[in-house]
Amino acid sequence: MITTEKKPNQFKKLLTLVITTAALSLAACSTNPVTGKKDFSLISKDQEVAMGAQAHKSILKQSKVYKNPRLQAYVNRIGQSLAKHSHRNNIRYTFTVLDDPSVNAFALPGGYVYITSGILAYLNSEGELAGVLGHEIGHVTARHGARQQSAGIASAILVDLISKKTSAGNSKALNQLSTALIRGYGREHELQADRLGAEYLARVGYSPENMINVVRVLKAQEEFDKYQARKEGRQPRAYHGVFSTHPDNDTRLKEVIRAANKIKSAGSKPANHDAYLKQINGLKYRISKNRYGKIVVGRATTPGLTYAKLALRSIVGEQRLRLLNGMFPKGEPVQGRLVKIVQ
Ligand SMILES: [Zn+2]
Repeated sequence: MITTEKKPNQFKKLLTLVITTAALSLAACSTNPVTGKKDFSLISKDQEVAMGAQAHKSILKQSKVYKNPRLQAYVNRIGQSLAKHSHRNNIRYTFTVLDDPSVNAFALPGGYVYITSGILAYLNSEGELAGVLGHEIGHVTARHGARQQSAGIASAILVDLISKKTSAGNSKALNQLSTALIRGYGREHELQADRLGAEYLARVGYSPENMINVVRVLKAQEEFDKYQARKEGRQPRAYHGVFSTHPDNDTRLKEVIRAANKIKSAGSKPANHDAYLKQINGLKYRISKNRYGKIVVGRATTPGLTYAKLALRSIVGEQRLRLLNGMFPKGEPVQGRLVKIVQ
């Protein structure tokens, strides 16, 4: 785990650098790739890409890239397929898996998208992975980062709201940035990123419903923390409040998914639960502060297999196993399907 103490300062420096670059640039009117309308933006496309490239270098210096070329290539392949179908397929996209236990994904202006090993552990299909990446691509294509700077808000880096202050992973710097982002961005940009992400899912052939599944995964984190807090007799951790409603009750989110469902797609791709789990077999997983294990994937073949029984073979309890397998708070392994435990 990277020490987080120094990181906020480094990020601050990076922010200053990025903001200065923007301030020095000339004001320009550019066409927004998503709306097709003229956007007042201080930054041109070239400047945006150059800024992203510079910030990318700093991120790579400060954060650890997850050392698994096969997993990096897999995430890149899914990301590129979505980017190709996006409103901005004329820029080069870079997808990077960070070795970071926080549950997070974010994007820089210019096409740099990051996803943490922490969130990969909780996703349960290729469709959900595509949902997270599609959402981030949406921020890039709608130029949220670039527009944010034009608005003069000190949050040049597009860090995502899906950052959660959970016990199971917390990169201070990323959280700090996401807090800054929430103040600046709010729900509107997030909903737009969801809408665009759902649209890209549909264009590639995944079901846009995967976007709702992603929000479910994140919502479950919050519910799990409440459950843990009750057990430990403490207050639940503060959340950003973005998912104050359950995705199933979120009418606006459902609306954007419904719209995406009408888009003609290139074919139909299954969510690919098993293929995804095979890819993350062996993934580093933080159980608690300074305690790590790894995700081990196996097939549920024993009749009557329960998470309680699986917990006996795992170093985490049955409810956390449910959380990892998208089954919290109740649910049992599906016969014949792959299931994750932690060892
Ligand atoms: Zn977002």
